[in-house]
Amino acid sequence: MKAEHYIPILEDAGIRPTSTRLLIYDAICKKSDTFSLTSLEDELQSIDKSVIFRTLSLFHERHLIHSVDDGSGLHKYCLCHNHGHCSSEEAHCHFFCEKCRKTYCLSEDSIPPVHIPEGFIANKTNYIVKGICAQCAKKTSQHLK
Ligand SMILES: [Zn+2]
Ligand SMILES: [Zn+2]
Ligand SMILES: [Zn+2]
Repeated sequence: MKAEHYIPILEDAGIRPTSTRLLIYDAICKKSDTFSLTSLEDELQSIDKSVIFRTLSLFHERHLIHSVDDGSGLHKYCLCHNHGHCSSEEAHCHFFCEKCRKTYCLSEDSIPPVHIPEGFIANKTNYIVKGICAQCAKKTSQHLK
């Protein structure tokens, strides 16, 4: 997809679509799974790190990206496939691989509804399945042969 296609998405989220922001959003859209600030910085070396950081914060604030707490201590994000129109119930589950420490988006699986007791205010829900991803499992079985 060409970067211009993302202009309405950014505008809809109340973000002025500058060329840098479009470039960053484009890089995020090409990812199928979660990413960290560092991995994005490595990828977009032509863009100032503080600009990437501020842009990510802005995207997150406007719900264009979800933040994922996978327990690894690393801050990870993934693209909101509803372009900022997710309610928290629509958020998807994640799979954390304990071997390669990569966090995969389980885009087909939404977080199951949780009953919140009266008087409680829920801000964020994380649903993380931990284990070994297919790639790592394959590597391990090859070793055993
Ligand atoms: Zn979303
Ligand atoms: Zn893995
Ligand atoms: Zn995700």
